[in-house]
Amino acid sequence: MIPRFKILFLIVGLIFGVHCRSARVGQAETLMGTLVEITAEGRDHKLVEARVALAFEEVRRVDRLISTFREDSELSRINRAAGVAPVQVSPEVLEAIERSLEVSRLSDGAFDISYAALGGLWDFSGEKPARVPEAAEIAARLKRVGWRRIQVDRSAGTVFLPEAGMRLDLGAIAKGYAVDRALAALKVPGVDRALVTAGGDLRAFTRPGEKPWRIGIQDPARRDRLLGELEIQNQAVATSGQYERFVEIQGRRYGHILDPRTGRPAEGVLGATVIASEAWEADAWATALLVLGPEQGIKLLPSPPGIEALIVDAKGRWHATPGLAGRIQPAPSPSVPFLFRL
Ligand code: AMP
Ligand code: MG
Repeated sequence: MIPRFKILFLIVGLIFGVHCRSARVGQAETLMGTLVEITAEGRDHKLVEARVALAFEEVRRVDRLISTFREDSELSRINRAAGVAPVQVSPEVLEAIERSLEVSRLSDGAFDISYAALGGLWDFSGEKPARVPEAAEIAARLKRVGWRRIQVDRSAGTVFLPEAGMRLDLGAIAKGYAVDRALAALKVPGVDRALVTAGGDLRAFTRPGEKPWRIGIQDPARRDRLLGELEIQNQAVATSGQYERFVEIQGRRYGHILDPRTGRPAEGVLGATVIASEAWEADAWATALLVLGPEQGIKLLPSPPGIEALIVDAKGRWHATPGLAGRIQPAPSPSVPFLFRL
């Protein structure tokens, strides 16, 4: 008979051996106009590598479906048919639009993918000389903004914008949605830990017993500094900030997140970070909070467990949901492997 301590030794050895043989694959690529980084760990290097490749393919696929920068995307087809006819779209595009509409409802219209009818009035590309649009121009465009007018027919699988000039843009949710799809490709037997980041959005996967991911939150006021660190296991984190894209007109900054109620860039919030179980939701709410501001934003944020937010207002003050305040560790270490921006 094998002595007990030998069995124990064998088990410990096996666990240790398996752990030591764990392979880590990390790759980065510029997709959807941002840096996408995917890291995964597991025993079988080949399997992990294949899964990481598949995850990148998922990001490319989502981009092809919903990017408004692509003429051939399904979203661009919906926009071209505004005021003309409903457009048949794939179930995923329908789903992304329906989720967006749900956030519009919950956020009192602060989040609105039809904001895009204002497109071009505010030019953040830097290609044209920047100017503040006239009030009358904004008012004319605002007539075509309104999430309630987006017609989704689930059974027919179509989306219709009833007036010419209406437009949809999923820029505020697309990266989160892509991160979710990429993570799904990694959440398979043989992968023990995974992290997908796309610009300000990320989602982690950690099998029970594995080490959590430690991430850093960048200070929106001082970009060379971290606000703090956070440990996550199976959650998503998204960050939005007006500083990400803006134009400067006569010494004043105008950010790329627009208030669909006024047609003007949202003001009052420097940055917002949201934690949720899925990245699309964190992404949508991070954008919504920029429009809503701290008080209203925290009030309207859905309350299922796991949804948390940190908002830094224009004066640099923090506003956090109770569940998050205690999770942020204020002393940032230089060894944080993943930084994302607040
Ligand atoms: P994010 O970086 O996720 O906050 O997304 C910002 C992008 O969302 C902008 O560049 C616009 O494309 C889009 N956007 C701007 N304002 C809104 C809004 N009020 N609701 C939904 N999307 C918006
Ligand atoms: Mg967003």
